[in-house]
Amino acid sequence: MAVARSPCTVIFTIVPAHGSDALKALARPGEVSRAASGGWITSAFGANSFAAAALSFAFNAVLQARTIAAGVGGGGAATTCEHYDYASPVDFELTAEQREIQELTREFAVREIEPHAGEWDREHRFPRDLFSQLAELGLMGTCIPEEYGGAGADSVSYVLVLEELSRADAGVGVTVAVHTSAVTLPLLAFGTDEQRSRFVPPLARGEHLGAFALTEPEAGSDAGALRTRADADDDGWRITGAKQWITNARYAGTVLLFARTDQETPGARGVSAFVLDGDQVRVTRDEEKLGLNSSVTNDIVVEGAHVGRDRLLGDEGQGLRIALATLDGGRIGIAAQAIGIAQAAYDVASAYAKERHAFGRPIGKFQAIQNKLADMATEIEAARLLVYRAAWLKDNDRPHAEAGAMAKLLASATARRQTGEAIQILGGYGYTKEFPVERYYRDAKITEIYEGTSEIQRLVIARSILGLQTDPTHTARRASAPR
Ligand SMILES: Cc1cc2nc3c(=O)[nH]c(=O)nc-3n(C[C@H](O)[C@H](O)[C@H](O)COP(=O)(O)OP(=O)(O)OC[C@H]3O[C@@H](n4cnc5c(N)ncnc54)[C@H](O)[C@@H]3O)c2cc1C
Repeated sequence: MAVARSPCTVIFTIVPAHGSDALKALARPGEVSRAASGGWITSAFGANSFAAAALSFAFNAVLQARTIAAGVGGGGAATTCEHYDYASPVDFELTAEQREIQELTREFAVREIEPHAGEWDREHRFPRDLFSQLAELGLMGTCIPEEYGGAGADSVSYVLVLEELSRADAGVGVTVAVHTSAVTLPLLAFGTDEQRSRFVPPLARGEHLGAFALTEPEAGSDAGALRTRADADDDGWRITGAKQWITNARYAGTVLLFARTDQETPGARGVSAFVLDGDQVRVTRDEEKLGLNSSVTNDIVVEGAHVGRDRLLGDEGQGLRIALATLDGGRIGIAAQAIGIAQAAYDVASAYAKERHAFGRPIGKFQAIQNKLADMATEIEAARLLVYRAAWLKDNDRPHAEAGAMAKLLASATARRQTGEAIQILGGYGYTKEFPVERYYRDAKITEIYEGTSEIQRLVIARSILGLQTDPTHTARRASAPR
């Protein structure tokens, strides 16, 4: 394959009416050459801005796709230089819409979250009102379709939102991540039409907060060992049991809860998923944690709560499959949270290296500090690419369990390592509460634990690369999709 010495430039205008289908067609490798003859595919300036119409910014808004394409002819624009001979599917550019969402979130986070994050951390305060503000911007349902009350953006936009929120405050990041990835999305994916229209809009509009209740004292990584019972009665089930470390439970309006419907079958197959109202669970404890102090983590009990058949999500006995599929997608969000924390630490450390003087010069002039900053920037960028890639695969209905596990594995280790390096660059000040890096260090650690520990991520990756297990997100419908 020959590669042209200078890329040719072709301008295509994607009008708003072409919508997401046009963008997706152009983004798919096999179809790029059919659609275009080369060069960059650039801006089409369409409808409103995200900020102006936060709840309706799907692909009928501003579209910008950029790719390098192949072939000859077509496209309807003049070329002024040689063609590439092949189509490259790799495109690292965010669309204009994704950038808008990223900027909107960043601006909001800098203004409304960052200045308070230290105080929320010290006082262990859950910033309840903040989530109404996020809801007004559409950020409590970023990737939920507009017809269900969401903002209708894609998964890449959603991880950008989580990254920016977590860069300001990782506790806010996890609250939104659990609410969206672990509750709203599985309701959308596995719910009946009736369940979707009943449960999703209040979550997507931020009127209810969602909690995901899987973990129990004796069932963490080994979720199939859970003991919470759902005993069938005439018109549904009566649920009894205890769950631990449930994010958002104290403020939740909707709880996605996993319980054993078949007491005779041990392990995964006897478990089912239920949608409970917040008042059907009782919070027994607020966990005291190393970090993430602006989020709530609760122990809960369910004391004989009755649920009708309309509260069963998916089929009876399919609960653990739903939980694991949820975590496959959800961990991409946690990986984005880790990137946000690592980026925040890098921001503080690099600024400090320019200001702090030792031996008559800024410490940033010492090679030892330069090496640290270079390693931080490199590792954060590498992890970020894995995170965006995993989200892109999800958006394109491609298998993403392995990619999500890789993203979380690297991003969480990056956050843990690089927040430590940030403290080192700040020296003694890094160890004090005068700077936020000690908070980032404490917040980072959890990303290696929840939504699957790093050991479990390695298991997922190893099973996939060794062909020991089909990627669970590689459903029959997607079986023919290219990998
Ligand atoms: C702040 C916080 C928020 C949380 N939020 C939620 C929530 O909203 N909902 C929810 O349901 N849960 C939540 N959790 C629970 C979390 O998902 C679990 O802590 C996590 O899955 C690990 O389970 P565990 O703590 O029981 O560890 P264990 O499973 O007991 O693991 C202990 C150690 O053994 C390792 N290990 C276990 N099995 C294997 C194996 N097969 N191979 C190799 N190593 C293994 C683990 O990697 C770990 O290092 C939260 C936890 C915390 C701390």
